[in-house]
Amino acid sequence: MLTQAIKGVKDILPEDSPKWRRLEDAVRKLFSDYGFSEIRTPIIEHTVLFARSIGATSDIVEKEMYAFKDQGGDEITLRPEGTAGVVRAYAEHKLFASRPVTKVYYMGPMFRRERPQAGRLRQFHQIGVEALGVSEPGIDVDVLAALVELFGRLEAQGVELHINSLGCKDCRAAYKAALKDFLMRKTDSLCPDCQRRIETNPLRALDCKSERCKAATADAPMMSEYLDGDCRAHFESVKQGLDDLGIQYVVDPRMVRGLDYYTRTTFEMIAVDKQGAQNAVAAGGRYDGLVEEIGGPSTPGIGFAIGVERLLMMLPEAGNGAGSPQVYIAAIGGRAERFGQKLADELRKCGIPAERDYSPGGLKNQMKKADRSGASFTAIIGEDEMARGAAIIRDMKSREQTEVRFDRLVEEIKTLTRSL
Ligand code: ATP
Ligand code: MG
Repeated sequence: MLTQAIKGVKDILPEDSPKWRRLEDAVRKLFSDYGFSEIRTPIIEHTVLFARSIGATSDIVEKEMYAFKDQGGDEITLRPEGTAGVVRAYAEHKLFASRPVTKVYYMGPMFRRERPQAGRLRQFHQIGVEALGVSEPGIDVDVLAALVELFGRLEAQGVELHINSLGCKDCRAAYKAALKDFLMRKTDSLCPDCQRRIETNPLRALDCKSERCKAATADAPMMSEYLDGDCRAHFESVKQGLDDLGIQYVVDPRMVRGLDYYTRTTFEMIAVDKQGAQNAVAAGGRYDGLVEEIGGPSTPGIGFAIGVERLLMMLPEAGNGAGSPQVYIAAIGGRAERFGQKLADELRKCGIPAERDYSPGGLKNQMKKADRSGASFTAIIGEDEMARGAAIIRDMKSREQTEVRFDRLVEEIKTLTRSL
């Protein structure tokens, strides 16, 4: 019996990869335009890193982590998100000393043990940025501008940027207390999860997907009413900056985000599908206390993560042309096959994608395969051609055929494929 892949963990098959590549190429170019360098951190980290950064009462740490003891007894977790690892690397390698403003991006797999469904996997991919060392609102605007521009370049339709401010440690404490009071009075109308959250993480009640909780919290106090002077000014500057760049956004006072480390600016890119359902494709925010929390110097930071699978679902088809050869080699007969093998090798070394049939049948059969391969030209070589010392080059679109002598073959194919 075949051992299948783990539930919620997907293969990215050859026909899917052009879409991924297109996205990754666009992302690399864009982040370099916006001044972000790539960082690659490990997929495994000490479990305590996530418990300390994401927060012990977050959904991720409470129930979604792939955490295990390895053979040596170390507590290890497959990273559920990218920020914790980046911030750890930043502190561990003292990047704050060499790069007072550190702007990095990453892309790679993340792991969460959730119930698999459309757009929700156990191994999924995120593309994200982190900007460390700047507390001024200008960096918030830059980070948001990069996110919005990425969606624009990819021609993603139907997305809305939602923003909010969660304040700082101080003003959020006052708000948390007020919200807790409010929720205590509504206990009976809340779902069991939110009843528990009143003590542990009351903000999450505003984020609950249950209709009961949505109704019960409709007139809950909002963070915006509790922002202190500095946090309010910061948020105003971010909004002003977005306005100056012509970036549209919706202020969503109920957006709280599930991770504990967020402060001040928080945001989501929401995709509104044809049925009107809303789905977060990207999310992020400021985390001014996080570097310190994991043992580094007090450093402000802001970042976001895009869910790649969810983003790809929104993009126009990329076609699978990226994998097509430019030249297909149809060789008939032993001598011609050996010639074909050499020709393919020479073309590939010149950077011309070439393909051939490894167990060639007759001409008709090979031409069918050439057609299916999507090649622009086919080089046809049979016994007659071997005897004449010339191949037939067929333009697969116009169906025109020309004879080219072997000694000019590679040069001629180079000329023909130059404009592809
Ligand atoms: P959700 O509310 O959908 O559970 P989240 O708040 O847990 O999302 P974040 O931790 O902010 O998500 O991660 C950022 C993005 O990563 C999400 O907006 C989403 O696009 C994507 N993402 C999160 N979890 C998954 C998953 N299990 N499978 C696929 N994509 C995911
Ligand atoms: Mg989640």
